[in-house]
Amino acid sequence: MNTRIRTAFFLLVLITSLAFGQAKTERDKLANHIRGELEFMASDALQGRGSGTHDELLAAVYLSSELRQISIEPAGDNGGYVQDVSGEFEFYGQGRKKWNTRNVIGRLEGTDSKLKDEVVLLTAHMDHLGIGKEVAGDNIYNGADDDASGCVAVLEIARALVQEEHHKRTVIFAFFGSEETGGQGNQYFLAHPPVPLEKIVANLEFEMIGRPDSMVKPDELWLTGYDRSNLGPELTKHGAKLVADPHPAQHFFQRSDNYALALKGIVAHTVSSFGLHKDYHRPSDDLSRVDFPHMEQAIESMIKPVQWLVNSEFKPQWAEGKKPQ
Ligand SMILES: [Zn+2]
Repeated sequence: MNTRIRTAFFLLVLITSLAFGQAKTERDKLANHIRGELEFMASDALQGRGSGTHDELLAAVYLSSELRQISIEPAGDNGGYVQDVSGEFEFYGQGRKKWNTRNVIGRLEGTDSKLKDEVVLLTAHMDHLGIGKEVAGDNIYNGADDDASGCVAVLEIARALVQEEHHKRTVIFAFFGSEETGGQGNQYFLAHPPVPLEKIVANLEFEMIGRPDSMVKPDELWLTGYDRSNLGPELTKHGAKLVADPHPAQHFFQRSDNYALALKGIVAHTVSSFGLHKDYHRPSDDLSRVDFPHMEQAIESMIKPVQWLVNSEFKPQWAEGKKPQ
């Protein structure tokens, strides 16, 4: 080898190893963020984040702190992230009663002078069932999959969006309180939205992505109400590994916070990989059952498609006759 070829060869080796080293580091960083966030949200210290409890408040403060570190602006009450939710609300089978819970709301202002008036809303619910009936010596309902995993997905997508030079549309990140008791946080959010609801072009709710669903391919997620709008198909065209919900009998489209938004006309779906596992709403939905490689892959697979949606002019539409009434 002459000196020039040898130098070029060494440079090539150096660049290649740096590139691979970088890629490994980025994936490792994502993996560590996911683990760190989930390990706190689903820890016994939070005692299952019971709806409307002090433990739910701890989760809210933690998520606020994370948003601040990621450089997402607060969009809750009085210049903070937390939106206090107090009043009379509808409860499943119990009519209306007084309740106090909270939401956590952050905002990433769009970088395009026109498109920043349009909003993409990314959501998850921070509460779970708290302390309950003991099962196999455990009474803490940690809700690692339901829905600490969705909260982590929203945080990591936020982190990825901030790092990009362009995020043309404005993005609102909302973590709802008291989903498990009937969506009281969400009811309040809709009555007191941080932006006029008609500005919201799409909502993606993230629910239970901590484990794969054997009904779909290992690297796939499913979208509730996939055929109800053109959002799922367009995200899929832009790299999302999203398929139709394989459990239509479960009516999952109607069973998460996306539904109340959809009833207001917002194109709103839930992203999930819940395979109807037996730990659902049991103390065993804890960290030991989380499939971290799946969760990393799931979150990573949604980052680029969401970035595309935030930077595009595409406005999702309901399919003919498929808008929920
Ligand atoms: Zn849930």
